[in-house]
Amino acid sequence: MAADQIDALRKLPDAHKYQHGHALVLSGGPGQTGAARLAARGALRIGAGLVTLGVPPAAQMEVSAQVTAIMLLRVPDAAALSDALNDARISVLCAGPGLGVARAAALLPEALGAARPSVLDADALTAIGRDGALFDMLHPACVLTPHGGEFARLFPDLADALEMAPLAARAAILRTAARRAGCTIVLKGPDTLVAAPSGECAVHSARGDDAAPWLATAGAGDVLAGMIAGLLARGQGPYAAARSAVWLHAACGRHCGPGLIAEDLPEALPAVLASLG
Ligand code: AMP
Ligand code: MG
Repeated sequence: MAADQIDALRKLPDAHKYQHGHALVLSGGPGQTGAARLAARGALRIGAGLVTLGVPPAAQMEVSAQVTAIMLLRVPDAAALSDALNDARISVLCAGPGLGVARAAALLPEALGAARPSVLDADALTAIGRDGALFDMLHPACVLTPHGGEFARLFPDLADALEMAPLAARAAILRTAARRAGCTIVLKGPDTLVAAPSGECAVHSARGDDAAPWLATAGAGDVLAGMIAGLLARGQGPYAAARSAVWLHAACGRHCGPGLIAEDLPEALPAVLASLG
């Protein structure tokens, strides 16, 4: 990771939490809150000042029994999200992990209309793939984090070519997708590519010494979404936040090694961040 990327992760001696952003992670309903909790923990561990889970009332008990430093806000519907976003201190949104496609579709017009930096993953991507009006609301402060299947739902016409393409060709296809969406896209897999609408594109290869196959486990992608949201909350731009989070996520995967489960990834961040010096 480049020196300026490492510098951007530091907290200054006179820092206070409100300088480091407030990420709102939207959660799904009862029995489906784990993914959002993983994302929230990733956001907090990477350095967001405050992280709140936006829960439907029926999931409030379940979530409050599981979190401590992470706060809770009742978000039953789009009107409640609109109220929450009247608070300008909520600087970043993360939507998708465990959200449910119906809840994603209901909340996304409000979330995207707020034009806050936003990470959109999982069920949010499915909802956007189904509704061109939501796709048209994507803006430059969004980061989409599809794996191959989610990419195919968003860009069906580009997906076939992507399947068998060598890395350079994949990068070219992802650039096209980022330009079309008008926002940063992280295409996840063993090799993860990050493209910005400006045409910038970076490849994070997880081969050889950089291999981290232990990341192929349930919930790993949810943690990545939260980590990107955390760096957006820290004030990084979408392309920089996505690149640094992908790098740190892979480093956490290597740090944990065999036996890794997604819960371990946020907990590995302090050691990985400390190792950067
Ligand atoms: P998801 O598909 O949403 O569960 O996300 C899985 C996460 O793990 C993504 O960040 C992938 O890049 C990462 N990942 C999955 N498989 C591998 C692999 N074989 N090597 C390195 N990273 C991987
Ligand atoms: Mg996922």
